[in-house]
Amino acid sequence: MHSLPPLAYPYDSLEPYIDEMTMRLHHTKHHQAYIDNLNKALEAYPELQERPLESLLADLSQVPEAIRTAVRFHGGGHLNHSLFWESMTPGGSELQGQLAAAVHQAFGDLAGLQENMNSAGLKHLGSGWVWLTLDNAGQLQVESTANHDSPLAEGRTPLLVNDLWEHAYYLKYQNRRGEYLATWWSVVNWPVVVRRYERALGSG
Ligand code: MN
Repeated sequence: MHSLPPLAYPYDSLEPYIDEMTMRLHHTKHHQAYIDNLNKALEAYPELQERPLESLLADLSQVPEAIRTAVRFHGGGHLNHSLFWESMTPGGSELQGQLAAAVHQAFGDLAGLQENMNSAGLKHLGSGWVWLTLDNAGQLQVESTANHDSPLAEGRTPLLVNDLWEHAYYLKYQNRRGEYLATWWSVVNWPVVVRRYERALGSG
């Protein structure tokens, strides 16, 4: 059975960029609900409970049709939130290493990547996620996905992700998604993103 991963930092530690109440509700209520619904969907399929979620989401055709929509939504909700919590750290961090060079090459500089992701996040209609991913050719891509869809389904590896659902920012930012997106960079956990990048390159 899937269970809620603990946060590596306290709920109030991303203040003032993300408020404590949002973090607490987001983690203990929203994320937990996706896990509960995923477990319910997998109840009758013990062999799928043992499979890594990444592999199910990368090829949903292996998932029985009766639960495919539920696994796509709630499984994606579980995995995306897990990646999202790890993508943040109190006080933020600096982009370094091999990924810094790749970001400079693909987007000019870090500000170029930030503008790209902010713009993709702002233009995205409705709920979803905005991502920095790595494609099969080893190129960095900025993209957004609807609902809880994963870039894994398109063969791309998630590196960095921000949550575009209103529950992620509404208490503090209300309708100002652009302000939330711009502010969020203050809490990005680059060392984790760099590790994901190096792991993806190593396995590619
Ligand atoms: Mn969320």
